[in-house]
Amino acid sequence: MLALLICGNCHYANAKMRYGVITDYHCAGYTDEGSNEVKGVVLHHTAEPTIAQSINVLTNKKKNVGCHVLIDTDGTRYIMCEPTTIAYHAGYSRLGNRDRCNEFTIGIEFQGNTLEQPLTDHQIESAIEYLLPLIKQYNIPIGNIVTHEMVRTNYMKAYPKKKCWEKVDITQQEYKRFMKALRKRLPKAHKR
Ligand SMILES: [Zn+2]
Repeated sequence: MLALLICGNCHYANAKMRYGVITDYHCAGYTDEGSNEVKGVVLHHTAEPTIAQSINVLTNKKKNVGCHVLIDTDGTRYIMCEPTTIAYHAGYSRLGNRDRCNEFTIGIEFQGNTLEQPLTDHQIESAIEYLLPLIKQYNIPIGNIVTHEMVRTNYMKAYPKKKCWEKVDITQQEYKRFMKALRKRLPKAHKR
């Protein structure tokens, strides 16, 4: 039997990648001006009926939207740009006391619509697999992992006269489910 040496710092790196990763697509909505500070994560659902349609939207230059990773219902991850890229996923948004969340957050798009269907377990596990190394590398506070709806609501509270519409993306129920799963997988030092 092999003795397992578990180093306190290597929890994240030891996990074997379980889900497929596809790098054939690049999102259309991003900028090369400046670098993403990677201080938070914004969770979205695509609200498109199929993965092909989600990819179409995210790679359509006219739509000019983006994200860092799109996660299919089977857990397959479509990497749409590097974490350090500023992608256009959050729009009018506020987290803590900062606006323009695109500049400092990672955007995760889950295939589907959480108003109609819950996230699959594969989607949750795959997102965690993607996020754990980033949480460690950039020391992302757990409180900065939020939904699109939350950063939108923060913005609307701060700027009540600004014209933008409320959205449910993703539902609080699915957010709580995701966070519960994520917390279970975080090393103790990071459960803040
Ligand atoms: Zn969204």
